[in-house]
Amino acid sequence: MENCLFCKIVADQVHSQKVYENDDLLVFKDIFPAAPVHLLIVPKRHIATLSNCTGSDAELLGKMLALVPVLAEQQGCAVKVDEAGNHYGGFKTLINSGPDGGQEVYHLHIHLIGGPKPWNGKNI
Ligand code: 5GP
Ligand code: ZN
Repeated sequence: MENCLFCKIVADQVHSQKVYENDDLLVFKDIFPAAPVHLLIVPKRHIATLSNCTGSDAELLGKMLALVPVLAEQQGCAVKVDEAGNHYGGFKTLINSGPDGGQEVYHLHIHLIGGPKPWNGKNI
């Protein structure tokens, strides 16, 4: 897709700090991190927004979401349980959609935002 920033990142025409790649997906660091961990999970195929997705995208969407716990573990922000049974760690996953949803880049992406608080992100 011409003039799509994330398509250019997928095509290596724009530099990014990649952390994971497979046949369908690319994961790279957000350039303005809202927290110690802030990754963007993008499909290599251009999809402008979640609002355009249908049942035929279910497999791809499932792969994107299923990657979240793998990345959280790699990045050290997975949810853990201590000896007393208390949860600790953790992250947020976020998909902004459209102007009212705060979407700025029109190539579908999941934000994975986590790590020890406090975070920088004002609206996260
Ligand atoms: P959105 O608001 O569309 O959900 O999120 C777009 C995200 O892309 C923002 O968090 C923004 O910081 C990030 N971003 C914008 N331009 C670039 C860039 O050139 N490289 C990287 N790695 N992230 C970017
Ligand atoms: Zn694109």
